Amino acid sequence: MGLFDTPELRAFRAEVRAFLAEHLDDELVQATRAGLHLPRETVARWQAALGRRGWGAPHWPASAGGPGWDEARRYIFEEETAFADAPLGDVLGLFLAGPMLIAEGSPAQRARYLPGILHGQEFWCQGFSEPNAGSDLASLKTTARLEGDEWVIDGQKTWLSGGHMADQMFLLARTEPLGRPQAGLSMFVVDMRLPGLSLQPILTIDEGHSVNALFIDGVRIPAANLVGQRGQGWTYAKDLLARERVNNAQAARTKRDIVALEQLARRLTDDAGRPLADDPRVRRRLASLTADFIALESAVLGVVAEQMAGREPGPAASTLKIRGSELQQRVTETAMGWLGRAGLLLQPGYGSGPLDEAATGWVERHLFRRVVTIYAGSNEIQKSIIAKSLLGM
Ligand SMILES: Cc1cc2nc3c(=O)[nH]c(=O)nc-3n(C[C@H](O)[C@H](O)[C@H](O)COP(=O)(O)OP(=O)(O)OC[C@H]3O[C@@H](n4cnc5c(N)ncnc54)[C@H](O)[C@@H]3O)c2cc1C
Repeated sequence: MGLFDTPELRAFRAEVRAFLAEHLDDELVQATRAGLHLPRETVARWQAALGRRGWGAPHWPASAGGPGWDEARRYIFEEETAFADAPLGDVLGLFLAGPMLIAEGSPAQRARYLPGILHGQEFWCQGFSEPNAGSDLASLKTTARLEGDEWVIDGQKTWLSGGHMADQMFLLARTEPLGRPQAGLSMFVVDMRLPGLSLQPILTIDEGHSVNALFIDGVRIPAANLVGQRGQGWTYAKDLLARERVNNAQAARTKRDIVALEQLARRLTDDAGRPLADDPRVRRRLASLTADFIALESAVLGVVAEQMAGREPGPAASTLKIRGSELQQRVTETAMGWLGRAGLLLQPGYGSGPLDEAATGWVERHLFRRVVTIYAGSNEIQKSIIAKSLLGM
């Protein structure tokens, strides 16, 4: 807390709290506590409130509609919204599509798409992975060919998070069939309502339907939907994935989870009726998670400061992704161990009595967090990036 303990930042924190007290209603809080994949209307309602206040995208530059905060204010905002259990917003639009369009998009693209993200009017999905191109993304086979003033796209994408709620997709496709695989990729914006696009739900173990397969059959988009330069898609994708990895570290939400874990330890009792929190092994576990969190938080703050100074995070993003995702999994695994049999039931509010509130959402978070070491580039791939670019191996 010391870093943020100045009169200006205390006043800023109070301003955020006042906003949350006024605008974050009980329905939004309960939805956030109970699940990870909120309905579009819930996320849109919260995003619209933030957009009206000028706080729709804390990490965007003021010239693009961001509030112009420094990293300290941005981090305070993340912390306060996490601790108030505010919805996360459309992560794909806010953290991936938006920053990519700000960096590489044309003025017309920025004018067309950024306001919709800021105000929760348009949602986005990411069309990168394919059935045979996940870790080896550069081998993707979806093609885009220029016909007159239109691109014609054919192929198949998979694992589209939120594809069923999205209006727009940023898509990586092959425009040059020859040469190095990485050199032949380009980035596009594709309207999800176009004919020739067909979505199929993929059901997962946590809450059912949040990801999708997408079949793309002769879809036509205007030539102007190419983002940046033709053949530069790999470079844009790498920058975008690095931003995704920093965001995936989820420091503020993990901090909130560790506090919730402490509450859970106070609520649960052992066979003799003593609170788990009195057990030295439980306290050691909490101390170890907290120490790992503090290390993660300071590393995240360092990278955030670099980003705010206009520098891309580079391989440091890979270290944050590994440490952040592993810590998120350890936190929910700890909760599941303490909950015991009660932790096996997927529905929140599984029983009655004082346990209910503290137990809500842990099972869903635990199941969904199997994915955090896989998506945005698996942790094994991040280790290869670190070995090559940081250690020179
Ligand atoms: C729930 C969920 C949501 C997702 N959302 C999206 C999305 O919105 N948009 C999108 O484009 N993608 C999305 N993804 C896809 C995600 O990015 C890929 O799953 C990920 O990149 C891994 O690719 P893969 O599944 O093909 O596994 P593979 O690449 O087949 O890997 C399988 C295993 O082998 C390991 N492995 C592979 N290559 C190597 C290597 N060279 N060295 C060491 N180990 C290796 C991997 O670490 C992994 O453990 C999502 C995935 C999931 C599960």
